[in-house]
Amino acid sequence: MKNILVIGGGAVGLCAAHSLRASGCSVTVVERGEIGEGASLHNAGLIVPSHFVPLAAPGMVMLGLRWMLRPDSPFYIKPRLDPDLLTWLWQFAQASTSGRTERAIPLLRDMSIASLALYDELASMPGMEFGFRRNGLLMLFRTGHGREGSLGMARQASNIGIEARVLDRDGLQEIEPGVSFTALGGVYYPGDAHMTPALFVDRLRAHVEKEGVRFVSSTRVTGFVTRPSGITAVTTTGGTYAADEFVLAGGAWSPLIVRSLRLQIPMQPGKGYSVTVRNPPVLPRIPMLLEEARVAVTPMGDRLRLSGTMELAGFDTSINARRVRALLGSVPAYLGGLGARLLEKGEIWAGLRPCTPDGLPFIGRFRNYDNLIAATGHAMVGMSLAPITGKLVAEIVHGRVPSIDLHLLRPDRYR
Ligand SMILES: Cc1cc2nc3c(=O)[nH]c(=O)nc-3n(C[C@H](O)[C@H](O)[C@H](O)COP(=O)(O)OP(=O)(O)OC[C@H]3O[C@@H](n4cnc5c(N)ncnc54)[C@H](O)[C@@H]3O)c2cc1C
Repeated sequence: MKNILVIGGGAVGLCAAHSLRASGCSVTVVERGEIGEGASLHNAGLIVPSHFVPLAAPGMVMLGLRWMLRPDSPFYIKPRLDPDLLTWLWQFAQASTSGRTERAIPLLRDMSIASLALYDELASMPGMEFGFRRNGLLMLFRTGHGREGSLGMARQASNIGIEARVLDRDGLQEIEPGVSFTALGGVYYPGDAHMTPALFVDRLRAHVEKEGVRFVSSTRVTGFVTRPSGITAVTTTGGTYAADEFVLAGGAWSPLIVRSLRLQIPMQPGKGYSVTVRNPPVLPRIPMLLEEARVAVTPMGDRLRLSGTMELAGFDTSINARRVRALLGSVPAYLGGLGARLLEKGEIWAGLRPCTPDGLPFIGRFRNYDNLIAATGHAMVGMSLAPITGKLVAEIVHGRVPSIDLHLLRPDRYR
């Protein structure tokens, strides 16, 4: 039986542990803090085949520059002379071409469709109730410009086989009668789904633990014991752990974890906020994305969660009240009955997305360390793609042909 050590207990690490255990491996997960305490606990919980365009896409650099000048915009880069950040921004600009985006689109589509099917399987397992609902997603717009962007995306979706229905305000009202819409209209993506991320993490952890996965929490991986072209053990704050294979699932911290191995996996932590309101006066059935504001609105049981913003501000999870207010203040222009003052009573959380310059994760073996497998860098779609990433990790470990072509995801692509 192969012995696998997974570094990081977020959604990706847990899904890797699940697939590895189910395929007969002995698995240990080492987590610096508590399981799920990175980005995987209180995010928007959207599982979105409709998000087939990577963050690095044509027009994003100009949009980012425009947004940077507004203190309440959804995107912000904290000005600083950090060589890693400057290199990342350069690589991001290089990746934001139509050629590279076109190549990434079918890959992201196939990964998220495969992942959604795995969510179906996970949700049908005993004890795995995590608020998984296949209710689709509404992309709402409030301006002519937003309409143009949303309709363009809907056309692109249809061209690659993802169903998208354009709706005016009456159409929105029909599909979600309990909500009073102030948006101009929207696009409905019936193939999307959502869930409650904290429940997912909790239930999956309990399931894999019962299946025999061992968890070592409050223990930070500090380094590696190496052999020629491989790794024999990790050193941690709680001793040394040997294994046959190692999975790097450290989210935004992954580049720091492998720094001593001199591996180049460029990534920036992209801070986002969520605000969760219990028993709101309006509780839709279908989650929504507010196009111009870049805010997600997700129903989770008796709660409503609003999530958004992307701040490249380093490893800083402090709450910027001005940005949170801007996030909440954007909602009434799309949805009636949800005033910003009411929403301010919600619980605020900040998480760091692991953002790669080309918007694609790193999945695969490293060339110089043949028993170290990357499973990280999923940026805004780490919950969507966690199950397929876990499956791919297991396929790699067992030497099977991966069910998704991993060429564009090679962890050495920035060497
Ligand atoms: C506001 C917001 C909303 C989002 N909404 C969505 C959404 O709707 N849909 C979607 O698909 N994605 C969404 N995301 C993105 C998603 O949350 C992430 O992509 C995903 O959680 C990443 O999972 P992960 O397991 O790679 O990383 P993490 O969950 O961050 O896990 C990494 C783990 O590694 C641990 N770790 C770090 N260093 C060490 C070390 N040295 N030793 C041991 N352990 C270590 C950390 O403590 C952490 O628990 C959102 C993110 C944010 C911030």
